Amino acid sequence: MKEMKNTKGSVNAQGVNIIKVAQANVNQVYSYFGSNKQGLSQTSAAARLKKVGPNTISASTSESKWKVFFKNFISPMAILLWVSGFIAIFSGTMELGIAIWAVNIINGLFSFWQENEAKKSTDALKNMLPTYVTTLRDGKEIQINAVDMVPGDVFELQAGNAIPADARIISSNSLQVDESSLTGESLPVSKKADYKHGNGKFAEQNIVFAGTTVTNGSATAVAYSTGQKTEFGNIAKLTNSQQKAESPLMKELDQLTKQLSKIAIGLGIAFFVLAIFFVHYPAAKAFIFALGMVVAFIPEGLLPTVTLSLAQGTKRMAKKNALVKDLNSVETLGETSVICSDKTGTLTQNQMTINNIWFPNEEYTVTGTGYYNNGKIQLDGKDIKVADHPDLKLLLTMAVLDNDTQVQVNSKNQPSIIGTPTEAALNILTAKAGVSNATLGNPYRMTELPFDSDRKRMSVVMANKDGSQEIYTKGALDSMLTTIDKILVDGKVRPITDADIAKINKSEADYAQKGLRALAFAYRDMNGDNPDFQKDAKKYSVDSAEKHLTFVGLTPMSDPPRPEIYDAVKKCHNASIKIIMVTGDSPLIAKSVATKIGIVSDKARVITGDELSKMSDSNLQAALQHEVIFARVAPEDKYRIVQNNQALGRIVASTGDGVNDAPALKKADIGVAMGATGTDVAKEAADMILTDDNFASIVAAIEEGRAVYSNIQKFLLYILNSNVPEALPSVLFLFSRGLIPLPLTVMQILTIDLGTDMLPALGLGSERAEPGIMNQPPRSQSSHLLNKSIIWKAFGWYGLVASVISAGAYFFVNYAHGWPHVALASSGPVYVEATTMTLAAIIFCQIAAVINCRTDLTSVFKIGIFSNHRVLWGIVGEIFLLLLLMYVPFLRSAFNTMPIGPQEWLFLICIPIPLVLIEEIRKFIVRKVTGNNTEV
Ligand code: ATP
Repeated sequence: MKEMKNTKGSVNAQGVNIIKVAQANVNQVYSYFGSNKQGLSQTSAAARLKKVGPNTISASTSESKWKVFFKNFISPMAILLWVSGFIAIFSGTMELGIAIWAVNIINGLFSFWQENEAKKSTDALKNMLPTYVTTLRDGKEIQINAVDMVPGDVFELQAGNAIPADARIISSNSLQVDESSLTGESLPVSKKADYKHGNGKFAEQNIVFAGTTVTNGSATAVAYSTGQKTEFGNIAKLTNSQQKAESPLMKELDQLTKQLSKIAIGLGIAFFVLAIFFVHYPAAKAFIFALGMVVAFIPEGLLPTVTLSLAQGTKRMAKKNALVKDLNSVETLGETSVICSDKTGTLTQNQMTINNIWFPNEEYTVTGTGYYNNGKIQLDGKDIKVADHPDLKLLLTMAVLDNDTQVQVNSKNQPSIIGTPTEAALNILTAKAGVSNATLGNPYRMTELPFDSDRKRMSVVMANKDGSQEIYTKGALDSMLTTIDKILVDGKVRPITDADIAKINKSEADYAQKGLRALAFAYRDMNGDNPDFQKDAKKYSVDSAEKHLTFVGLTPMSDPPRPEIYDAVKKCHNASIKIIMVTGDSPLIAKSVATKIGIVSDKARVITGDELSKMSDSNLQAALQHEVIFARVAPEDKYRIVQNNQALGRIVASTGDGVNDAPALKKADIGVAMGATGTDVAKEAADMILTDDNFASIVAAIEEGRAVYSNIQKFLLYILNSNVPEALPSVLFLFSRGLIPLPLTVMQILTIDLGTDMLPALGLGSERAEPGIMNQPPRSQSSHLLNKSIIWKAFGWYGLVASVISAGAYFFVNYAHGWPHVALASSGPVYVEATTMTLAAIIFCQIAAVINCRTDLTSVFKIGIFSNHRVLWGIVGEIFLLLLLMYVPFLRSAFNTMPIGPQEWLFLICIPIPLVLIEEIRKFIVRKVTGNNTEV
């Protein structure tokens, strides 16, 4: 690698002269990078990895840890508390000032911890989905994690791959690369092994860059720069300071916090003024009094708690095979009202089995399960010698040769497919007949016209030992018929007639009715055909080769629906989520599968890709209002389907796996890529990746998304409701013009709000989805976190009940000491006991509240009163805090508390029981009245 330095031209971060690399011939390139056409050896690759480090680019938006740390201490709320503490100290209440500052510090540290936890879980998600690269090591093709790539590695690129390193192309086949991430150019650029210099920085034709993607073709390349030393790594470094856009949820929370803070400050000012004029407090004392109100109403900890519960949501989704790339998506998932889903592999198992073989004059059922090595196959229960059936032999030959898939059997005797399940089914069929490349004399594949979802077919050009050449094509029947003009019947070729076509179509339709998808096979004998082609394989193109084909037969195959799909579809229907099947498969199959699994009724309209292209947007939107399936569509059509659903105000999730699916995945509110079979391009474009490619996992993720939003609302309800009993003492005090001494001191308000309340509240963030959460329609986009129902419940119900109980506790203590015959104590042991009891009563009301907040309408006994451990630990924590305040002497004097007797403890312990029971009765009545299991 040394040779590359200090030469004229542009030198990259790794010290590599790119022009020189581009101009060098293949052998020079190998030698520059200490590699060869066998690739690196494992040992030298390991040594290089140690030296250059892993092939990763550090996140471009990561802020420094210190910045994140201090951010929590300089938020507007924190500043307010700093100033308040300062004023408290200056006005002579040193203990209060220190307590406020201590609370501010604890709050800041706590927020930092929460954010860190959230970040850790999102980082963990990123590592759960490695990108693999097919690399040559010690002369063998192996799959390595892209992170382990080093300069000098020789690797393969295919359509859909993310390019893992800056590399020089050694050989290529119709390679096209999307470099928009580097250059902003949206059209893919062609790349070839030959040197050609274009204009601009990334203009070398034979160089590919990390962070870009292959949209077409294939190539072999030698990596020269990895990780941070790549051009992309360099740009990522430069954009380090870029800010990420805030999600709607975060914006709403931010606004909510600001609004509540304004209300708090407004109330504080009002209380300050009233305390001066009503109770004739001196200004400093009135200020401290008003401060209690301000602190009580500011929702400290709201933002970090929400971030943490979003992160916990992503963790739970990951366990259910749905990896969410961005916390914001969790919220959007809960709003999803339409899922545009592929069929094959997402709704079905993608385990194809060939059931029949169909020829124009014969039809067989594949019966045998065994494998024959003697050129026989069991059809219709009989052993048939393949050699005796030329048409069958030809079809099986095509099935072997026009095929890119391998089925390997691992040490546990389990088959694994490298390729597509459709072709794997053909492999199994041909293996049953004992037909293989070797038995066919290992013919040479001159070229391949790969399968794509637009053309829906694939061809190979084969050269036999005797020099003869054939084109073998397989694909979807309607697409194949456009290329066919002859038919093979009983070993004879003749021009195809309309009657033949009608017969073939009818058979395909009959199979489709049964849910079987028929792949069609055709060929073209090139002997005596265009000699130009035969000399030069490059002359074979889709347009020139896929014509004048001779139809041979069909192989109908089944692909059973996933067993869990029926439940998932039902869940979607109950949750008013519309499922729209968008498939490349035939209309009949699409409808047969969609009706079988219950997505639509048999009245559903099927729109084909052709019809769609002729439809106006308004007609399409009208069609989308009803039951509809899209069949024989190209991935590009998905974009329009997503777009028009969005135009109807719907929140759309769309699945995809190929390169051409990327625009639809990006356009959708939730792009869902397939983790197992999807391309890197689709995974990059998506917001969520399904590790098991299963539709049911999308539904599980939606359920989690809904649960997270509802947990945030539960959290809000919980922290808001304690404001009422916290505020009531001050109101009583003010409006009695001081006759009722403050039942709760400012320090005690702080204890509840910033201490005891926060611990169980955290547990609400990890509450599981409530049963019945999927029986409601999706949340409307105009709905708000803080809605009327929460305000009513927080202030008019939970808050009111807690106020009555805590005020009751206060008066109860005074009553026991002679009130109303003697005046309410405003100092001394009776006053301390009364305030201690008020504080403790509010804490015990909050224990009931946290249990009650765990569900909207479901009985907490149904979900298990002990099922949320975090809530339980939170309750234990808050009782422990209360005990500390009561029994640790120096805390007692600061917080105006004292130990209480057994009778009082009994009173406190009894508080939550009726509160939970009354709420259970309310939930029961609402359930009965609304006929619903959860809140609407
Ligand atoms: P979905 O779009 O729901 O995933 P699909 O697998 O049918 O369904 P495509 O992959 O676009 O969609 O395939 C479209 C059609 O192309 C299939 O119905 C089949 O007839 C044909 N086809 C699929 N795989 C191959 C292949 N490897 N070679 C040739 N033709 C194929």
